[in-house]
Amino acid sequence: MNVPILDLKPAYDELRPELDAAYHRVMESGWVLLGRELEAFEAEYAASVGVAHCVGVANGLEAMQLVLMALGVGPGDEVIVPSHGYIATWLAVTHAGAKPVPCEPDPSTYNLDPARLTALITPRTKVVLPIHLYGQTADMPAINAIAERHGLFVLEDAAQSHGARCGDRAAGALGHAAGVSFYPSKNLGALADAGAVTTNDAQLAEKLRHLRNYGSKVRYRHEYPGLNSRLSELQAAFLRAKLPHLAAWNARRVALAGRYFAQLRGVGDIVLPFVPSWAEPVWHLFVIRTAHRDALQAHLATRGIGTQIHYPIPPHLSNAYRGAGWHRGDFPLAEKFAAEVLSLPIGPHITPEQLDHVCASVQGFFTRSNR
Ligand SMILES: *Cc1c(COP(=O)(O)O)cnc(C)c1O
Repeated sequence: MNVPILDLKPAYDELRPELDAAYHRVMESGWVLLGRELEAFEAEYAASVGVAHCVGVANGLEAMQLVLMALGVGPGDEVIVPSHGYIATWLAVTHAGAKPVPCEPDPSTYNLDPARLTALITPRTKVVLPIHLYGQTADMPAINAIAERHGLFVLEDAAQSHGARCGDRAAGALGHAAGVSFYPSKNLGALADAGAVTTNDAQLAEKLRHLRNYGSKVRYRHEYPGLNSRLSELQAAFLRAKLPHLAAWNARRVALAGRYFAQLRGVGDIVLPFVPSWAEPVWHLFVIRTAHRDALQAHLATRGIGTQIHYPIPPHLSNAYRGAGWHRGDFPLAEKFAAEVLSLPIGPHITPEQLDHVCASVQGFFTRSNR
């Protein structure tokens, strides 16, 4: 039995009529950028998140970069980012010209630890940029309270958390603005790169509608030095076809996560994900930790099971930030997790039988090796 870490074909098989209709609608319209599909998707996505505005952009990285640009965050400014997470979050800050200031994670949730936040705030700090990592929101009430006390803007990285909730609000509606990615592997994925910003701030949304299109809303009138960062009509149409299925697809992920918890608890030295009472994760990834990570990954590969490591090199040790002044040992939790995390297959088209094969294989690894 094969269990791929990601396979996009079953999603097409399930939604073929809707996706084919979306494709034909755009082809027949003869309009491919900044049109009715994008406008409709923006309204539908904003409603699903529970915010007033959604601005479609080219990808998740630029969604965050454009918010920072719109705020005027640049050289001399600092943005607090998670030490444990994806490098795109840091790159958004770097491309805006500001300095990423890493904050270590809460060791139980892997998300930015609010208890470590205040100590990192300086007069140059402008923004806090937490990630809702692996599909579970960061502790936003705590982060928002600290940010408010210090007059900081809160930008969520909601790339992995479409539909996740924190108390009574959804990811993307938990700060002042959120950057979202619709990269194909995300819980809500387009069929190429795509992204968006969600916010209740009308002025910010209006500025972003300029910034994503060379700083212009009226042809050849450029109000700001913007980027070219647009979400195409075709991708917006595909996203409109998929959005009505997001809740059901997330529910399938939740059921599979429950099955992992039931079968992997107490197996070897495995550390399972921790879900605080206020969190409703959508299991973008199902991430376990073990000291035997590399051997387990190799064993699973021999059994036809695909796994990944999110992420093997913490951003501060990546070559991209060589020369930025960080060294091994600077962020011990991020470094420890990078050595121990393993993402097991999860997704709306993984079957319970496939998942049981993964669990049996993990159990077999620890039983036979006596670890
Ligand atoms: C995918 C992802 C991004 C980047 O999104 P792109 O659309 O690929 O640019 C940023 N942050 C996190 C946490 C992600 O998972």
